[in-house]
This record gives sequence, C-alpha cells and structure tokens, in this order.
Amino acid sequence: MTAPATPALAPQLPAIPSTLLVGGRWRPAVGGATFPVDNPATGETLIEVADADAQDALDAIRAACDAQPALAVLSPARRASLLRRVEAALREREDELALLITLEMGKPIIESRGEVAYAADFFGWFADEALRIGGDYRLSPSGLTRILVQHRSVGPCLLVTPWNFPLAMGARKIAPALAAGCPSVLKPAEQTPLTSLLLARIIEEAGAPAGAVNVVTTSRPAAAVGAVIRSGLARKLSFTGSTEVGKLLLAQCSAHVMRTSMELGGNAPFIVCEDADLDAAVEGALLAKMRNGGQACTAANRFIVAERLAREFTSRLAGRMGEMTVAAGWQDGAEVGPLIDDAAVAKFERLMADALDRGAVIEAGGGPANGRFVEPTVLSNVVPGTALLEEEIFGPLAPITTFREEAEAVSAANGTPYGLVSYVYTRDLQRALHMVDNLASGMVGVNVGVVSNAAAPFGGIKQSGLGREGGLEGIAEYLDTTYAALPA
Ligand code: NAD
Repeated sequence: MTAPATPALAPQLPAIPSTLLVGGRWRPAVGGATFPVDNPATGETLIEVADADAQDALDAIRAACDAQPALAVLSPARRASLLRRVEAALREREDELALLITLEMGKPIIESRGEVAYAADFFGWFADEALRIGGDYRLSPSGLTRILVQHRSVGPCLLVTPWNFPLAMGARKIAPALAAGCPSVLKPAEQTPLTSLLLARIIEEAGAPAGAVNVVTTSRPAAAVGAVIRSGLARKLSFTGSTEVGKLLLAQCSAHVMRTSMELGGNAPFIVCEDADLDAAVEGALLAKMRNGGQACTAANRFIVAERLAREFTSRLAGRMGEMTVAAGWQDGAEVGPLIDDAAVAKFERLMADALDRGAVIEAGGGPANGRFVEPTVLSNVVPGTALLEEEIFGPLAPITTFREEAEAVSAANGTPYGLVSYVYTRDLQRALHMVDNLASGMVGVNVGVVSNAAAPFGGIKQSGLGREGGLEGIAEYLDTTYAALPA
C-alpha cells in the first residue's frame, strides 16, 4: 500500500463541533479538559474534543430529564416530521458525513457512504413507527373489567456506542428514542466522537427541542457512564459494545433496576454446504468478512466449509482477499482501511502467531503490519482450540475449517458463548430451514452476506445481547407498557 497523507480534509474540520452538547448549549467540559481524536490511517491528531467528567455527564442527564415535557407534548406527527427532516439532512450531507466517518474510523469512503444511508434509513423507519405507537383494549375473563393497555416513553435514556459504525450505532438508538418521546444522552466511543457531534448538530438544526439529544464526549467512559447510572436519573441504558463492558454495565444497572438493551460481541460462523453456489458463497464471504475491514460484530469469524468444497472455496477466497487494495479510506480504490488502533494491530498479530504455532497454513496475506494496516489474510488447516476461533477477531483474517456432516457444522457453529449472527450457503431450501431452526443466533443470513437493515430486528442471543434494534421491535425498547383497569 502507499503511505497515506491526510489530504485537504483538515480545513473542513473546524466546522465540526468539538464541545459537549448539554441542554441545547454547546459548551466545553466543566474542567476545560480535552482529548485528541486521531486519524487511524496516519496516527495524526484530527482535532481535540471536550473531555467530559462525571459532573458533565450528570449535567447532561439532568438536561435530558428537563427536556422530557417538551418531547412529551410533541404530537406523533411532529415527532415523525422531525425524524424525516433528520433523514433528509443525513442524505443531503452524505459527502461530509462519509468523509468524517472515514477520517476518524478509517473505513473506505464507499463504505462510509453506505453507513450514512443505513443511518438515514433508521430515521425514516422510525418516523413511521412514531405514528404507530398504540395500545389495545381487552376484557377480563369475568367480563367485569376493561383493560386499557398503553405504551409510553420509558423516559431519559443513556446511549453508549462503539467506534466501528460511528454514525449508524448512534442513529439506531436516537431515532427510536425520539420516536418514542425519550430524551437521551449519547456517549460515543472515545475513538470516534466527531460523527456523533455532527449528528447531534443535524438533529438540533432539524428542530429537536433543546435537551432532547445531549452528547457527552469523554476519554473516561467508566466515570461518565457510571455517574449517570448511579444518579438513577436515566431510566434506560442502550449499550452497543463488547460483551465484557456490557456485563459490567448490566451489573451497575441492576442496582437501579434500569431497563437495558445490550448489543454485544459476536463470533459468526459462515457455513458453506456442499451444494452451495460457490460463486455466491465467495461473494457473500467477502461481504461478511471484509466489510469494515472485518471490524464488525456481524463479521464472519469462522468459516466452516464442506470438505468436498474446501480447497476450491479457500483458493477462490484467498485469490479475492489477496488482491484487495489496502489503503487509507479516502484514497482512490481503497477497499480495506487501517485497523482502529495499535491495540487492534497487536491483537491481530497475536491471533495470527497463535494460529501459525498450531500449524495453520497461510493461503493469502500474512505479511507484517504496516503501521495500522494489515493484509487481508486467509488461513487453512486451523485446528479447534485456536484462539481466533474462540475470540472476536475484529480484523481481516479468515480462518477456514471443514466439516463432513451437517450436524457437525451446526455443533461447531453453536459452540461459542456468542449468538449474534450465522451465515449459511446452500441451494437446498429444506437444509437452509433446518439450519435456521438449529443455529443458536439472533440472526441467520441464508445465501446473503449482510443481514442488517432498518426493517430487521437486529440483535443477539446468549452472550451477544439483550433486546433488538430496528424493525417493529426496535421502538418497543423505548416504551413502557402500562394499563388502566376500569369497570366494564
Ligand atoms: P467497548 O465495549 O470497548 O466500548 C463500547 C463503548 O463503551 C464505548 O463508548 C466505550 O467508551 C464505552 N466503555 C468502555 N469501557 C467502559 C466502562 N468501563 N464503563 C462504561 N463505558 C465503557 O467496545 P468497542 O471496542 O468500542 O467496540 C467493539 C465491540 O462492540 C465489539 O465487541 C463488537 O462486537 C461490539 N459491537 C456490537 C454490535 C452489535 O450490534 N451487537 C455492533 C457494533 C459493535
């Protein structure tokens, strides 16, 4: 790859807000602290942003509480039109948003554009859902009591997001929260706060009431998030991130019996059955593995391929991954950007070394890292017990294992504490349905390499999480069900 230099992007940065948004006011952290946001492709600092402490986070959740009445009086139609204005603005400002995503997170600009469209879809989807929040009427078994069931806003929410989809993860939470009438505090990942700040400005410009969305950027997430949870002011936490941090936060929330949604880690199996369309399976594998450079919770982590096809599949996948253009996301033709930080590179190298020690064979890539850029790598002869089969790889590394019987593939696929997504390639409808019924994951991609879209109830089972984002189910996460009992 060529050495990247940040092009004429810096001049655009002063337009990006770099302070906190609290109660409709853009302001620095109380203590005046800031922290740097780096460009992962170059290691250069893009900008310094406000570094909130516990006090700032508490101010933000209080501002969210104060905004609750203003949101509550917005009619469903006005909430829907607010969301539609945000959707339109996101689509209009795609160039700017995509550039910012690429700059702070590193993914190729074409993928950043896809992320903007994906994020905008959530505002469009939940604009419609805002109009459909209803309830129902029932009669008690005796016929003596009427039950009037209602769904209403859960109240102020704390939204904590990861760095890998800096715009979409926030959009997937803020859109249903606003649709349901919940004010929120968004706490973006410290690696990628800029896109969230721009999203908040767009929401503000679209006419959201002051305090409806507050943003707290911080390099001290445990302090800021912990303070909000302990305050008891947030009624719900929606978290997307690692299973490890999710467990910590669940424990903290239990003290306040706070509602939680947890979108956590994955370890997706990608099963290629012997009757699969091989061309389609290779294309799907590239999408499932290489989107976001492998840094996605839905990334195919383990390829489980019918023995009869394994050689052909491996050599085709290796051919395609081996010829991908690794470059800074803004460079022409970039297909794979850098890993997010040095820790991610160290993890990639550790997983590679462990696999090679256990006899894995390099089919493509495998060269040393160049800064934060690593080569798309395919490994065959990967034996059970290898670390990369058990951990989330979060990089462009594809280990291939084989199977003979379908039951063996399903059992290997399910043999992890995670259960986010599985992929299956087969031409046999009965086999596909059997797999769908037996794979222990919240989502199954059948002959597709991407399962997420705004209409789908995205989420995992087992240690991949609790709750769903998107679809008809997504808004329920931000609503309480209450009822009134009256004489019939
Ligand atoms: P992470 O868990 O390190 O961080 C996620 C968020 O939690 C960040 O905002 C971070 O600042 C905050 N955080 C970290 N430590 C905290 C603490 N002690 N207390 C409070 N907040 C804390 O995850 P990451 O590295 O940003 O993201 C990658 C992980 O996210 C992967 O495991 C990936 O699978 C997962 N992920 C899941 C989904 C999904 O929808 N299931 C989507 C994207 C990413």
